Amino acid sequence: MALPKKTSKLTAVATAVALAVAPMSALAQQAKGPPVIRDTEAEQLLREYTRPILRSAGLEKQNIQIVIINESVFNAFVADGRRIFVNYGAMMQSETPNQIIGVMAHETGHLAGGHLSKMREQMAQAQTQMIIAMLLGAGAMVAGSRGGNSNGGLANAGAAVVAGPQEMIRRTLISYVRQQEENADRAGVKFLNATGQSAKGMYETFKRFTNDSLFAARGTDPYVQSHPMPAERVAALEEMARSSPYWDKKDDPALQLRHDMVRAKISAFMERQDTVYRRYPSSNDGLPARYARAITTYLHGDLRSALAQIDGLIQVQPNNPYFYELRGQALLEGAKPAEAIAPLRKAVSLSNNAPLIEMLLGQALVATDNKAYTEEAIAILRAAVARESEAPLGYAQLAMAYGRKGDFAQADLASAQAAYLRGDNKTARELASRAKTRFAVGTPGWVKADDIVAAKPLPGQNSN
Ligand SMILES: [Zn+2]
Repeated sequence: MALPKKTSKLTAVATAVALAVAPMSALAQQAKGPPVIRDTEAEQLLREYTRPILRSAGLEKQNIQIVIINESVFNAFVADGRRIFVNYGAMMQSETPNQIIGVMAHETGHLAGGHLSKMREQMAQAQTQMIIAMLLGAGAMVAGSRGGNSNGGLANAGAAVVAGPQEMIRRTLISYVRQQEENADRAGVKFLNATGQSAKGMYETFKRFTNDSLFAARGTDPYVQSHPMPAERVAALEEMARSSPYWDKKDDPALQLRHDMVRAKISAFMERQDTVYRRYPSSNDGLPARYARAITTYLHGDLRSALAQIDGLIQVQPNNPYFYELRGQALLEGAKPAEAIAPLRKAVSLSNNAPLIEMLLGQALVATDNKAYTEEAIAILRAAVARESEAPLGYAQLAMAYGRKGDFAQADLASAQAAYLRGDNKTARELASRAKTRFAVGTPGWVKADDIVAAKPLPGQNSN
């Protein structure tokens, strides 16, 4: 798992995504570009949750990504038609797979309905109307001041002319958004029915936002802001959901376990240790609780105890790639890279070469300082970044591997790519310029370096 801030055990990844068209609150919330959480196990589960829904929405060929945002509050939204964003808080607060699947079905409804581009058009129209209204209002104000009655009369009428259309536009936009929300609910239920799934979880989640006094009192909850949830909407959703033959269908216990494992992992990585132990006390010997405690022991406790706990998990599920990944990560970060290699190789093979795990293996190979591993590390890392091109970790490790080999042109290029993905464009340009002097002009490496020198900053990042 690659998580930010609290611990260096996890890798923060700058949000390299266009957020300019995020709905409402998402905009304000994302303005600072909080990091994204990268974790193969969680991403894989969310992909499996979403794949059948995307297929029934006719979006299976769009290669839509699921991005987990490092935010503990509940939120999920679509922002650019290519990605569904989910706060880790939405995963934590969804007690069943069906609940988060319902949220993904609703978001898919927004994607399938093309709501984003419609929203953009609507905003553009509203802005035009706003400008016209302002001009009209300003004209009236000028007329008012000419009349010499500065305390009221036409001057105030001018202000009223401005406020009137603004309010009208605001109402138009809100009703427009409500219409979209209802459409997304309807589409979401349709996708769930088509895939033989219950919409009960979607209803349960949305009902929580209208009924739960905690959320209602907060009022500023980002999910409610981006997806207005008046009682009538939830009532309509309930009616649709209950009429489905799948209303009472339960989640598969094996899927529920995977869901609980991911929630345990997120808790262990993201929450305070005392919170983790309160959620997963030692009296709880279920697999998720043991997973959470093993992770928190590796993060905050001693390595030997963590490894013993991880080995206990492996005994229960000897083919779970993420237990080997965890073992490797614990050893790697416990300054035992050579011992990390075997479990990471196992994790790579059990996960069908998951690129984020390959990056960890590459990192372990590089960290051994053993030159015998250099070529293998380069091959693995190159394969990983080819499939996972937005993770700076892969390029950073690749740069080290090339450096060890004495290939400084490739090392500079990989460092430039890592810096670019981190959003550090100044460093990226400097390194890419230096790489260009080391490659022969026109070679593939030179071209890639030249692209970075000429590249515009990634959306949402500043240009310095
Ligand atoms: Zn919505």
